[in-house]
Amino acid sequence: MSVRDASSAGSDPQATMTAAVVREHGGVEVIRFETRPVPVAGPGQVRVRVRAVGLNHLDTWVRRGVPGHVFPLPLVLGSDGAGVVDAVGEGVQNCRPGDEVVIFPGTSCGVCAACVAGTDQLCREYRILGEARDGTCAGYVVVPAANVAPKPARLSFAEAGAFALVFLTAWSMLVDKAGLRAGETVLVHAGGSGVGGAAIQIARLLGATVIATAGTPEKCAQSKALGADEAIEYRTTDFADAVRKLTGKRGVDVVVEHVGAATFDRSVRSLARGGRLVTCGATTGGKVELSLHQVFFKNLAILGSTMGSKGQLWTILRLVEAGRLRPVVAKTLPLDGLRDAHRELEARTWFGKLVIEL
Ligand SMILES: [Zn+2]
Repeated sequence: MSVRDASSAGSDPQATMTAAVVREHGGVEVIRFETRPVPVAGPGQVRVRVRAVGLNHLDTWVRRGVPGHVFPLPLVLGSDGAGVVDAVGEGVQNCRPGDEVVIFPGTSCGVCAACVAGTDQLCREYRILGEARDGTCAGYVVVPAANVAPKPARLSFAEAGAFALVFLTAWSMLVDKAGLRAGETVLVHAGGSGVGGAAIQIARLLGATVIATAGTPEKCAQSKALGADEAIEYRTTDFADAVRKLTGKRGVDVVVEHVGAATFDRSVRSLARGGRLVTCGATTGGKVELSLHQVFFKNLAILGSTMGSKGQLWTILRLVEAGRLRPVVAKTLPLDGLRDAHRELEARTWFGKLVIEL
């Protein structure tokens, strides 16, 4: 084992760290704070001293469990992160101990047809940190060298650890799947959510008109501040009626769906002829009804999307670096506040991201 060491943990085989671990599914009480050995960076791998972990709804699904899906428990939680490279394994050329980095959340084999085509999210070995392999909610994490990129200097660690998963998801939905074009109109559900906030910014950057929904008047105002042209308070207003009015009965070209059962039918009805609905989540349930008549008569496309490619993340990174996309951090908490953070995430208390700082 060849490990070039920087500082802190060094090569001390006794070195330990605290990790937030899920051993069985359940409420926030199943999150355990365990003392574990600091992992060693093998060939081609990088060890990062974690400084910040942006939380995602995915974290709560891993904790609660998803019917019909088996997570490889025990798992260290956390998909996003930023920190400082602490050690690199043999053959690593792209970074050195001391480098400040953003951690990319998806790993893949790197050599299959999907990977070499630049669609690593379609690799059969694709694994999301904190979902199918140990994640970032720990003092240190070891990832393949391809999973770190320089931290944009303008961002704090909290900001740098809070954008990869949601911006990648929203980018792949709008750019790759929906093929959003300048002049089109987009409906973005839950502007205060991570994916929603990213989608508002990306759609605006692409030259689209953005209609967002949000749960409170404050979140509506914040959605507009992020770039939404209109914001619908969905608790008091039927968003489908509002979309119809706002578009002169035409409907929108693209819907960014991640709510699921509670909104799907009205999302489909909100589409204009030739419209595209892209879904990346189903927080209110995944069983929906769909009228095929609507789909073919109106020439609609219903598209699924999960994550995106590392190449897209490099593009996003450049736009973040240039200040054209920005992570929205609502609140930071220490690692031992993770249970509270999960509660607040599920209650949708905040506009923007909750971030654990270590
Ligand atoms: Zn592959």
